[in-house]
Amino acid sequence: MLPRKLDVQGIGMTSQRTRNRLVERLREKGIRNEAVLQVISKTPRHLLVDEALASRAYEDTALPIGHGQTISQPYIVARMTELLLAGENPPRKVLEVGTGSGYQAAVLAPLVDKVFTVERIEPLYRATREILQALDYRNIRTYLSDGSWGLASEAPFDAIIATAAPEEVPPALLEQLAIGAKLIIPVGKQGGLQWLQVITRMDDGTYTTVDHEAVQFVPMIK
Ligand code: SAH
Repeated sequence: MLPRKLDVQGIGMTSQRTRNRLVERLREKGIRNEAVLQVISKTPRHLLVDEALASRAYEDTALPIGHGQTISQPYIVARMTELLLAGENPPRKVLEVGTGSGYQAAVLAPLVDKVFTVERIEPLYRATREILQALDYRNIRTYLSDGSWGLASEAPFDAIIATAAPEEVPPALLEQLAIGAKLIIPVGKQGGLQWLQVITRMDDGTYTTVDHEAVQFVPMIK
């Protein structure tokens, strides 16, 4: 059963106009990838948050989604997606650890061939799977599992994105990268400073790490 009527277009605080204002804000904050901005302007974030929060869905903030989790801030979703797409060979097969509301997966879906996304909280996994299906995101596959183990059955991936922060990078995620693939992951202690890292698997099998900005994510829990 659907939680509510799916008003994909939106009206008032969820209208295209309001979404365009969000896109302008992201531009001001430095997001440059036009394809990413375009997808953000089309993605119905108001249908992925609790109905009571729908009017705030196009503010550039994280919002609670229950179970102590949050839907990521649009800026950070845009930034991570931009980092994921950067480079000569755009990734086709992508793994996301931490499905949550499904927003990051929904933003990735039109930009890559296939999104595999893993969530460890069962009610969240179920609710999000249902809404993504109702919204007809056919290239997103959802899994209920501990994503710190990656998703061995579908590996290797052209990119992996983690939307929950471990204190240390789980080795399985490194192992499941294809050659030349990138892992985009916030790393650090809960409550302390976390850094958004981009780790690339090189031709010779070694890894290079680049630190980007300081971020705040919920913890990746084993
Ligand atoms: N990408 C989400 C962000 C949700 S917050 C969105 O756009 O809304 C991060 C999510 O990661 C939470 O739902 C949390 O339950 C999940 N998570 C934390 N540790 C995990 C793990 N080890 N495996 C899978 N999911 C995990």
